[in-house]
Amino acid sequence: MSGNYATETVPAEAAGIARAAEVLRRGGLVALPTETVYGLAARADSEAAVRRVYAAKGRPGFNPLIVHLQNVGEAARYAHMPPAALELAERFWPGPLTLVVRRRDDAGLAPSVTAGLATVALRVPAHPVMQAVLAATDLPLAAPSANRSGFVSPTTAPHVEATLAGRIDLILDGGQPCARGIESTILAVRDNGAIEELRPGPISLDDLPALAAPRMERPIEAPGQLASHYAPGKPVRLNATKVAPDDFVIGFGAVAGDCTLSKSGDLAEAAARLYACLHLGAASDKPRIAVAPIPDCGIGAAINDRLRRAATAPD
Ligand code: AMP
Ligand code: MG
Repeated sequence: MSGNYATETVPAEAAGIARAAEVLRRGGLVALPTETVYGLAARADSEAAVRRVYAAKGRPGFNPLIVHLQNVGEAARYAHMPPAALELAERFWPGPLTLVVRRRDDAGLAPSVTAGLATVALRVPAHPVMQAVLAATDLPLAAPSANRSGFVSPTTAPHVEATLAGRIDLILDGGQPCARGIESTILAVRDNGAIEELRPGPISLDDLPALAAPRMERPIEAPGQLASHYAPGKPVRLNATKVAPDDFVIGFGAVAGDCTLSKSGDLAEAAARLYACLHLGAASDKPRIAVAPIPDCGIGAAINDRLRRAATAPD
């Protein structure tokens, strides 16, 4: 893909991390591994840098970004953290949990990061490369998934190159595929402590016994959770038990495929392989993708959420 940037991919070692920090400080864009998917980072306090993220991804301006921080203590600089939010942060950060909380008026974040909302999405990621870059910049970093908006998310550096080469400054290659493989769980925490799941993810509601708080109505403020997303550019059929010869089959458990999410039926392994399988399906010469049934429990709920969006044709 062509663009205005000479995008370079470098190993996520000390020299690459130092370079990434320098690019970010001057307002550039760096793709880098997190434990969920590869993120496209920019300094979250610079409107110009954040606008570049939206432009590189072709992301609609109403879809706010998650702000990544170094530790729990930093959250209070950007948001009002009710006790319930602090409790969740202390239990799950660093990790694949994003908290949507009320933004502080003096947060100093670029207005585009929150798409004009009164709330902000915060996460402390666990991946050592992302942590090293956060520490080296000492900046809050906005980082949506490192792919063109609407397409399958990236879990390897080549996945990032497939849609963003020429559109960003630098890619840090972490070597291994991202361990969790799907985007963070997003919980909104209201000032009164009520908690609501805005997006299922690696941390499932079963992991949260403390979530006795009343669940609220589906919010007006879950922007960007579009019906069509993660789309491989061809029809996707879910819960496929019968398949045709021209189906690219994504298998699970007893259902073998051209590519299999988890032979042993392990849902965490399936989540980690989901986007790699969708990328293979997108690149294959078969005209359709058929996906075996995936149990809807635990992280299976997040896998099925992504698959439903992958199966929904764009408007
Ligand atoms: P992504 O960066 O693609 O993982 O998407 C981040 C998602 O977080 C967005 O699509 C929104 O749905 C959600 N999000 C971010 N900020 C907010 C916010 N302030 N309120 C509600 N949802 C948010
Ligand atoms: Mg995304």
